[in-house]
Amino acid sequence: MRKRIVAGNWKMNLSLDEAMALANELKVKIDALRGSAVAEEDNPLPEVVLFPPYVYITRILDMFSGYKGVWVGSQNCHHEEQGAYTGEVASLMIRSAGASHVIIGHSERRSQFGEDDALLARKTKQALKNGLTPVFCCGEMLPEREAGTHFGVVTEQLKNGLFWMDESQLAKTVIAYEPVWAIGTGVTASPDQAQEMHAHIRKLVAGTYGEPSAENMTILYGGSCNAKNATDLFSQPDVDGGLIGGASLKADDFSRIIQSLWTT
Ligand code: PEP
Repeated sequence: MRKRIVAGNWKMNLSLDEAMALANELKVKIDALRGSAVAEEDNPLPEVVLFPPYVYITRILDMFSGYKGVWVGSQNCHHEEQGAYTGEVASLMIRSAGASHVIIGHSERRSQFGEDDALLARKTKQALKNGLTPVFCCGEMLPEREAGTHFGVVTEQLKNGLFWMDESQLAKTVIAYEPVWAIGTGVTASPDQAQEMHAHIRKLVAGTYGEPSAENMTILYGGSCNAKNATDLFSQPDVDGGLIGGASLKADDFSRIIQSLWTT
C-alpha cells in the first residue's frame, strides 16, 4: 500500500527555543488526533516528517524519541561522501545523527544555489547509499506553466534527477510535485491541476519501472497547501499527502493538515 505522508519544511526559520516549542506543541496535537474518535486500527495516522534546520535535527529527534510515525529529516545534503567542503553536510552525517529523510531538489535550492539535475542525481545517490529516504522535488516555473510546457519540464527533471535508479532504490524514494509559482505565494494549484500532474508523474514511473512501482509511489503536493485547501487537494486520487512550508510552522495548521489527509 502507498505511504501517505505530511511533511513540514521549516526552511531557515525559528530560533532553537521556538523550534522546540513548535515540536512540543505538535506532539500534543498529534497525541490528541490519535486519541480522537476517528482513530481506527485500520486507518493509522499518516506518517509525519519534520525537516528542521540541520542544527536542530538531533534535538527534535530526541523530542520524538520512541514516538511512532514521526520522522525527522534534513532540508539538503551534499553530493559527496565526505571531505574538504567547509560548511557542508553529508548524507552519512545526517543518517548517523538519526535522521531518516532528506529533501533534494527543492526549487529554492535549484534557483538560489544553482542545483541542476545532474547534481541532484548525485545527491540522491548519496542519500540512498547512506540509508536516507530522498524526498525529490520537481515542478515548473510560472512562465513554463503559461507556455504549456509544464509536463515536459517535470518529465525532464524526473528523468535526469531520479530515473537513474533501479526499482528497489525508487521504492525507497518519495516524489514531491511543487509548482514553483505556488511555493510561498499563497497561490495554490487547483485540485485538478495537482491531480493531472500527479497522474502524469505516476504514468512516467509506470512507463519506466512498471505498474507496481507506480502504484506504490508516494507523490506529495507542495505549494501553499494549508489547513483550508488540504482536504480538496488530498481528495485527488494521485495525491498522497503534502510537503508543507509556511503552514508547517504553526502547530494548529499543520495538525489540521495531518487530520485532513487522515480523514480524506
Ligand atoms: C515548500 O517550500 O516546499 C512549500 C511547499 O512552501 P509553502 O507551503 O510555504 O508554499
